[in-house]
Order: sequence, then C-alpha cells, then structure tokens
Amino acid sequence: MKKTIEFQSLCVREIKENRTTDPHVLPIYATSSFDFKHIDQGINIFRGDEKGHVYSRFGNPTVEAVAEKIASLEAHNTGNRIYGLFCSSGMAAILTLVLALMKKGDKILTQGNLYGGTTELFSDVLTPLGIEVVRTDLKDMAKVEKQLDLDRSIKMIFGESPANPTLACLDLVQISAVCKKHGIWSVIDNTFCTPYLQQPFLYDIDFVIHSTTKYLNGHGNSTAGIILGSQAELMQKDVWKTMKLAGTNSNAFDAWLVNQGLKTLALRMEKHCSNAQQLAEFLEKHHIVQTVNYPGLLSHPDHSTAKRQMREYGGMLSFELKGGLEEGLTFMRKIRFCTLAPTMGDVDTLILHPASMSHVNVPKEIREKNGITDGLIRVSVGIEDIRDIISDIETALEE
Ligand SMILES: *Cc1c(COP(=O)(O)O)cnc(C)c1O
Repeated sequence: MKKTIEFQSLCVREIKENRTTDPHVLPIYATSSFDFKHIDQGINIFRGDEKGHVYSRFGNPTVEAVAEKIASLEAHNTGNRIYGLFCSSGMAAILTLVLALMKKGDKILTQGNLYGGTTELFSDVLTPLGIEVVRTDLKDMAKVEKQLDLDRSIKMIFGESPANPTLACLDLVQISAVCKKHGIWSVIDNTFCTPYLQQPFLYDIDFVIHSTTKYLNGHGNSTAGIILGSQAELMQKDVWKTMKLAGTNSNAFDAWLVNQGLKTLALRMEKHCSNAQQLAEFLEKHHIVQTVNYPGLLSHPDHSTAKRQMREYGGMLSFELKGGLEEGLTFMRKIRFCTLAPTMGDVDTLILHPASMSHVNVPKEIREKNGITDGLIRVSVGIEDIRDIISDIETALEE
C-alpha cells in the first residue's frame, strides 16, 4: 500500500475525535451510521448478541441519552424502570405506539376532546386501516365499562389529562384499573403536565406519550415526541421495531435541544403554574369573561381529580368571553405583548383560538360537544412577569 494519501482523499476522509477528556455537555452525534471495530463486532451487533449502534434510524447515542433522561423523570419515585423511545414528533409517537400494539379489527376507546391532531390521526389515518375509534366520556366509568363489555375488540384506552383545550381531567387510577380488569392497554398523553406535574406510571398506566415539542423542550425550537413504557420486552422489541421500520425516530439535534430545555423544566413549570393561577383568578373576576377553565380554580369541575394526581395545575388555561366568535376575534386582534401562535408550552405566553386554528378540521359537532365553542380562547401562560401578561390581556378585554 502507498505511504501517503492524495489531497482529494484527505478531503474525503472522515476524521476521528482527538480528545483525552470527556465533553461536559452531551455531544450531538450527527452521524447516520457507526463504524465497526472489526467484522465480528458487526456480525454480533446485527445478530443482537452484542449491544452497539449501527444506523441512526435504529438508535443514536444523543437520542437515546435524552430518551433515557425523560424516562428517568417519568420513573422518578415510582419504583419502576421506564423505557423511552424518541420519535420525530408527538404525532409520530402516538402513531408508532398504536401501530406496534394494535392490528386490523382492534379498536381504541378514547375521548372526544383530544388534541385536534390526534383526533384527526385516529379518524383519517387509522380508521381507514381498520383500527377504529370509539369515543365516550372517559370520566364516566359506567359508560366506559359498558363500552368495554359491549365491544370486545376494544384493545386500548387512549386518554389525555388535562385535555386540550378545556382542561378536563381524567381519573388516572380509574382508567388504569378498568384497563387492567379488561386486559387492555392504557395510554396517557401527558404533554400538558410533563412528569414534573403528573406521573401516570404512579397509577399503573401502561404507556405515556409526550409531545416534547411543548414543555419538555420549552423553547419552541424542536419538534419531537416520546413513547414511554414500563414493559422492557414490548418497548425494546415491538415498539422499537415499529419505530425503526416506520422511520418515525427522532434525530440527534432535536433530542439535544430537548435536553437543553429539560435542565430548567422544574423551574419553568413552577413559574408557568403560578402565572397561570394568577391569570385564571384575574379572568374569573372579569365581567366580560363567561367561564374560565383552569384545574387550579375551585370552580373547575375536575379540581379535586387534578389535586389528587397533579403536583400543581399546569400552565394551560382557556376561557370564554360573553358573546362568542366576534368578541373572541376582537380580543385576539388587540393582543400586543403575548403572541398568537398555534403551539404551547414555550417560555413566552401564546394565545390560540381553537375553533379557527388548532381544531379547524375537527367536525363542529365533536368540537362543541366537548366545550370547544366558537368563543373559546386558549392561553399557554409563559414565564414572563405576570404583570405584563395580565396588563396585555386586560387591555384586550376592554370594550
Ligand atoms: C402538540 C400535541 C401533540 C402532537 O405533538 P407534535 O409534536 O406537534 O406532533 C399531541 N398531544 C398533545 C396533547 C399536544 O399538545
């Protein structure tokens, strides 16, 4: 072999890290594949006889490190080991889990007031594939029991608590118990709470979903989601395999951004909660506000459920103005300090009009049945000084 390599080859050649100490902050492993030290290692890893990375769709060190961190947050003080799989979005996490657990002919029992995208995914993507959805009031256990007795093809309850955007809460103990009794899966979308406020695994829920795009990242600069579960075999084989073959995996950069956000999760959630409580109390007293939906208010129908299973009441609230659509739009037009944006869980206060934005593709009768009326306004309360938030909203409420 030649002693030196040519200029063009030098340009092409990959460089190897030159370091003797470890980086303090998790590196972004922006690599699609991993080198094997020798052929036998490659064979062993492919056979599953040896642990190791192969290809980033199957697993990536940055992605896995952050997934493990979120899993440890959901597992904290539960006594369980939790496994996490990072997906490209919250929607990808939900789709991957359902595809892994369900087959044609199986049904999902869920609520009408899910995140709009989830409702659409279930009816427009999964139903045509033969995985149908049955909707009921998941707060009403008599109705849930009746549905499960009536229809043996229901294999999963998928719930969201508090639910977008009316903040209705499910009793997680009851959901988990009814699922165990009927031998079906329980899945909770915990995006609104994060593990800082609510840990569904404490109540024996089987799987937890997060859109990490929201509070876990918290800074609005990453789109990703995560599937969490306590059953090692299922998570590491079936669910992982579905993720890897469907290509719904996350990537090193988005995972890394989520890790940046996680560092301040507890601090941020404290502030989100105290600001939201103050704003909810302000709105409740305002004469042109019809209703305020915030689980931290004694007037909220699910206050006691929330109190039992949540550390605090979260940063999300919604309210309805006396009047309706026109009043709602007028209010939105007068907002100056807060931002009109169709996301939530960022550090800054975001305001959304569900009827014309997030839930525009959900049929009006499903919307209204679940309290998503034309005049409803949703606020993702940020961590700014509460005086600026209230001042902006107070001005926008002036007639
Ligand atoms: C945003 C959201 C999702 C979807 O997450 P993406 O990351 O946007 O795909 C799912 N569930 C809830 C409760 C959400 O708020």
